[in-house]
Amino acid sequence: MANSKYEYVRNFERDEILLPNTWIVVRIDGRGFHKFSNHYAFTKPNDIRALDLMNKAAAHVVTTIPEIVLGYGVSDEYSFVFHRSTNLFERRAAKLVSTVVSTFTAAYVALWPTCFTTTGDGENEGNVEGEGKAKGGLDINMLPTFDGRAVLYPSWENLRDYLSWRQVDCHINNLYNTTFWALVNQGGMSHTEAEEFLKGTVSADKNEILWSRFGVNYNNEAEMFRKGSVVFREYALESPAVDPTVHKDEKDDGETGASGTGEQPLSKTQMEKMRKTRQKAKVVVRHLDIIRDEFWVQRPWIRS
Ligand code: ATP
Ligand code: ATP
Ligand code: MG
Ligand code: MG
Ligand code: MG
Ligand code: MG
Repeated sequence: MANSKYEYVRNFERDEILLPNTWIVVRIDGRGFHKFSNHYAFTKPNDIRALDLMNKAAAHVVTTIPEIVLGYGVSDEYSFVFHRSTNLFERRAAKLVSTVVSTFTAAYVALWPTCFTTTGDGENEGNVEGEGKAKGGLDINMLPTFDGRAVLYPSWENLRDYLSWRQVDCHINNLYNTTFWALVNQGGMSHTEAEEFLKGTVSADKNEILWSRFGVNYNNEAEMFRKGSVVFREYALESPAVDPTVHKDEKDDGETGASGTGEQPLSKTQMEKMRKTRQKAKVVVRHLDIIRDEFWVQRPWIRS
């Protein structure tokens, strides 16, 4: 194909090469999932099947693209972190973003039947009653599609703040949604009434509404709903003795780097060993606090 007279059109192609030595975050988000979730009768506010499917698709992405060190997901979005040292696709933005988006979407579609099971009458377990029930299979007129973008974070602190931002967002949205749907489903309010009712309320007010009106202690809501989902490689090095959920009340020391107790710089031999372990490592989905240092201190390989 080389040297045809048409070859010059290649020169019109422009690659955006992402700045070296920076953390690359590719964030994907479902397109029109408000409508999509209604079409397939997602349980509100949190359809477990849909979240499981997002997590399965994300685990597939992390497994098949080893340059990704972490995924964090909530609702219809997932952020994937490429290690700052990655040279995948010569760091071409379009290649990285489109590969992540299509790998995720392909897995989401392929794994759909494992989460949304088909039954004869088109009813799905755990669904709310009513119109718009999922039929088990995907409808060609309502296919899941995702957009994607790449954002660069030049420091570890910036990356940590990015992930904290997403997890705080998860908390705020989930507290709002949990209260909103309690007012609608148990409190008999219309959507507009519930929205009006919640205008100007702060977190404490919502916690109080949930508790006093519906006997719901927000802290007992599922971790997956409150914290979102983290996807990463699990190594034997992770000490089961150090369970982050055990230290709930431990005060954040404000350190943003993984410089708390426990992290030592790794020697060359250790690095080499880690690289080998990495290939064999199991990819796991957890629902943990990633704002405090603890998660990172326990898993130094994510950063190294
Ligand atoms: P856009 O195309 O701009 O992203 P969108 O409709 O997808 O539009 P988002 O802000 O991304 O808007 O919100 C996603 C919506 O999808 C949520 O507001 C919620 O209604 C729905 N949704 C996503 N995941 C779930 C889930 N697991 N359970 C219930 N609803 C969900
Ligand atoms: P990259 O990831 O860099 O794109 P690639 O293996 O996809 O690597 P391409 O240059 O895109 O390389 O070439 C696609 C290859 O896929 C072709 O060389 C051919 O071997 C194979 N292929 C694609 N479509 C067909 C087809 N319809 N029939 C047979 N082979 C095909
Ligand atoms: Mg959006
Ligand atoms: Mg969306
Ligand atoms: Mg979204
Ligand atoms: Mg190709």
